[in-house]
Amino acid sequence: MEFELSSIQEAFRGEVREFLARTLTDAFWERHRAEGKGASSPEFSRAAGAAGMLAIAWPPEYGGRGKSYVEQMIYMQEMTLAGAPMEHHRRAVQQVGPAIMLFGSEAQKHELLPRIASGEISIAMGLSEPNAGSDLASASTTAVREGDEWVINGRKRFTSGAHYSDFLWTVVRTDPDAPKHRGISIVIVPLDAPGVTIRPLLDLQGRHHFNEVFLDEVHVPAANVVGDVNRGWYVNAAAMDFERSGIARWAYLRTTLDRALEEARNPRTPTTSSESSRTLLASAAIRAEVAKLLSHRVTALQSSGALPNYEVSVAKLTVTETIQEVASRAVNASGMYGLLAVDGRDGGEESTDLDWGPLYLDAIRHTIGQGAAEIQRNIIATRGLGLPRG
Ligand SMILES: Cc1cc2nc3c(=O)[nH]c(=O)nc-3n(C[C@H](O)[C@H](O)[C@H](O)COP(=O)(O)OP(=O)(O)OC[C@H]3O[C@@H](n4cnc5c(N)ncnc54)[C@H](O)[C@@H]3O)c2cc1C
Repeated sequence: MEFELSSIQEAFRGEVREFLARTLTDAFWERHRAEGKGASSPEFSRAAGAAGMLAIAWPPEYGGRGKSYVEQMIYMQEMTLAGAPMEHHRRAVQQVGPAIMLFGSEAQKHELLPRIASGEISIAMGLSEPNAGSDLASASTTAVREGDEWVINGRKRFTSGAHYSDFLWTVVRTDPDAPKHRGISIVIVPLDAPGVTIRPLLDLQGRHHFNEVFLDEVHVPAANVVGDVNRGWYVNAAAMDFERSGIARWAYLRTTLDRALEEARNPRTPTTSSESSRTLLASAAIRAEVAKLLSHRVTALQSSGALPNYEVSVAKLTVTETIQEVASRAVNASGMYGLLAVDGRDGGEESTDLDWGPLYLDAIRHTIGQGAAEIQRNIIATRGLGLPRG
């Protein structure tokens, strides 16, 4: 069986590539680097929004293009392959917007969706807490109703991009007496509200991507709850389920693997090119192909109206563990050069353009974020294979 895109879908790929070539110019990257905002660029997000390149699969009435999941997958693939800085809009477009379309009030749809589709606003995900990560239902941030408002108290952790976001999609406990999955609601909290404090959490490489968000007597309008009060577990699960193909992760694997292959073909440093290195790269290339098909399978299920489930976990595990394997192999093959940090070189004779060390460290996050590897294996075991829970 061949998986081929239609000529219309290929034309759309051409449109995305053309937009990227026109937008990600040398001058753009120079400005972006000078701003020091990492993978977030409001300038890029707004340009993508203006060109209709963000809300690909959303209905036009909410500012979208009304296209299918396949076009959405193409867009994610091309954006990731080009290294486009998507963090400013990514969570709002992929997760929050679609969940608001399903569960939000008319006022929320009217107020937020066009601003998301245009790349104007950024929304961070306030899920994890010190005692609630994989077991999110243990979240203990509270929201108590006082008149027309909710008063929120608690602490969120590992909140990507909260420091440049406008709103926080916040998992709160609204009924402390209900069974843990039942007393949860989703509230949209403006991050400039009094009582919100955002503190950086630096990652392994000293980069500021995560934050702790402290919510101390934060008052938000009652109308900011998304969906029904105490039914937030299901609203949040739906938000996490959107953009499930994982094609962006696959594109990241593909670019990492291509770099490793290029390095193995034309080593810029004395590397330990060996039989085992070749074997590993060959098997990683096979797994990358398998992973692409697994991602396409998820998109095909979505397109047919089915709700992919353990299939997403299979694709995620395959991609993320292969990324780590390739990065690990490349560091080892580079010998001492693999241990250099980009900023740690003095520019002397020995310096190279290799940055496998940082890439190796970066690879770690992939098997933790959006559901750790052990949790994915639990899903495959129980929902995919019908095994009893442990
Ligand atoms: C790149 C990245 C971005 C992130 N961005 C955000 C964000 O924007 N917002 C947000 O809220 N959070 C974010 N997170 C946090 C992420 O959601 C959590 O790290 C993740 O859910 C795991 O939770 P934890 O770190 O508390 O680990 P824990 O849940 O404490 O798990 C620790 C270890 O125990 C294992 N484990 C836990 N339960 C089980 C079980 N039942 N069976 C087997 N093994 C188990 C886990 O797999 C893991 O290896 C991000 C994380 C990463 C890596």
